[in-house]
Amino acid sequence: MLTVEEASARVRAHAQPSSETEFVALEACSRRILAEDVRSDSDLPAFDRSAMDGFAVRASDTAESPVVLRVIDAIAAGDVGRLAVGEGTAVRIMTGAPIPEGADAVVMVEHTEPVERTQAVEGAGAVGAVPSDRVRILRGVEPRQNIRFRGENVADGEVVARAGQRLRPIDVAILATAGIERVAVRPRPRVSILSTGDELVDPGRTPGPGQIRNSNGPMLAAMVTEAGASVVRRTSAGDRPTEIEGAIRDGLDADVLLLSGGVSMGDHDHVAAALDAVGAETVFHRVAMKPGKPVLFARCGSTLVFGLPGNPVSVFIGFALFVQPALAILSAASRVDAPRGRAVADGEFRGPEKLCAFEPCGLVVREGALRAVPVRYRGSGDPHGASRGDAFVVLPAGVARVAAGDSVEVLSTTAYGAAPYAMAADPNRGVRE
Ligand code: AMP
Ligand code: MG
Repeated sequence: MLTVEEASARVRAHAQPSSETEFVALEACSRRILAEDVRSDSDLPAFDRSAMDGFAVRASDTAESPVVLRVIDAIAAGDVGRLAVGEGTAVRIMTGAPIPEGADAVVMVEHTEPVERTQAVEGAGAVGAVPSDRVRILRGVEPRQNIRFRGENVADGEVVARAGQRLRPIDVAILATAGIERVAVRPRPRVSILSTGDELVDPGRTPGPGQIRNSNGPMLAAMVTEAGASVVRRTSAGDRPTEIEGAIRDGLDADVLLLSGGVSMGDHDHVAAALDAVGAETVFHRVAMKPGKPVLFARCGSTLVFGLPGNPVSVFIGFALFVQPALAILSAASRVDAPRGRAVADGEFRGPEKLCAFEPCGLVVREGALRAVPVRYRGSGDPHGASRGDAFVVLPAGVARVAAGDSVEVLSTTAYGAAPYAMAADPNRGVRE
């Protein structure tokens, strides 16, 4: 029986990255794989600008504070200054507005107060306070303080997004800033989903005796969409060889065909034989893992076929380990693996010694450490147990038990391909891979 790593390597060897490009609107590019490098068409910021609402000043004028300066101009974001700041003067400035000539720092408004002028109010002979054109600087600033300088984020011509990157909402902002309205992306892999099993009814129906609702079909469709691929067909078939065969043939026009159910050793498990009958080449059947041991991978023409055992958590794990990386490769993603990291076991986890086991866990940060917390889980037929978790603890073959306090590997099945730093050991790591 293959190990998870061996099986993964075989799947990867069969997946061919797309070299095609299509264009999508900026609003529709999230989760897609970028097809070409994008460079900034300017320095960013493009001009020296204020990081604060306040007053643009010459820092040397504020060396001794409090000090009163004469306010000669006001600049809003989108505006440009008209007057240069000279000795003893200041310009009222808003966040994002260009720094006026002569100024080398900004005093935040919280560190100032208006200087009021007392004035005889006409008629009554009373005395009142009215705003003046002066400001009192209460706290001095250093040169360069509260200014974001031209080019300090990004230089003109710098690569701001790379081919192969899976686009996230933050990248949509980056592309917008670079002036990209139509984004060059790889085509979405096209996926057919076939749920097999005589017991299945659609979610809208009430199951009769012995029947269950089909949850794998909708779950797989959701996972395919999350992975940035597209569902082109979703069907069901009963446990009859000819019915399954026909449904498989229909699904083979897609890049990937996902089947659930019918790959085990039961009397009504006909998927493997049906795949043989349509001329598919089986690459592997069974992997040393739990859940999902009977998983099957085949290739038929250019279609990659995954036969996932019917239990919902087996489907979920099989997808995360084998299907998602295949979809990532097909769409020429540079990052293929689901993020893995380490956590401290917050309780006991057990698995069969001979198999690589995946046990759902919650993830919490406590006392400065990421902790994997056991959740109530009854095995692969218990998606509710899995849904109580955030990730899976990985118990490699040879490890039957981890105890509270042990370091364990965790597999994130929710953050795959999305956030490059999800679960990375060092959250302050600053450089994009
Ligand atoms: P099988 O792999 O066909 O032996 O199925 C294993 C278990 O998963 C059985 O309890 C099935 O009823 C269940 N199962 C199979 N297909 C589905 C499905 N589409 N949705 C929910 N459960 C399923
Ligand atoms: Mg079955």
